[in-house]
Amino acid sequence: MNESVADAQPLQGHCAECRRIKAEYYRAWRAGDRVAAEAWCVTMGRHQRVAH
Ligand SMILES: [Zn+2]
Repeated sequence: MNESVADAQPLQGHCAECRRIKAEYYRAWRAGDRVAAEAWCVTMGRHQRVAH
């Protein structure tokens, strides 16, 4: 099974990579690392442009 392609949501774009980036974003945010959180936010935006 390919989890990244299943349940494709064009607007939300919750593919496996999205979930990974989001998880890392929350981890950084919880740790109080705003710089890293912002970097993940940029990474997410870039990923959604390229992959979705
Ligand atoms: Zn994605």
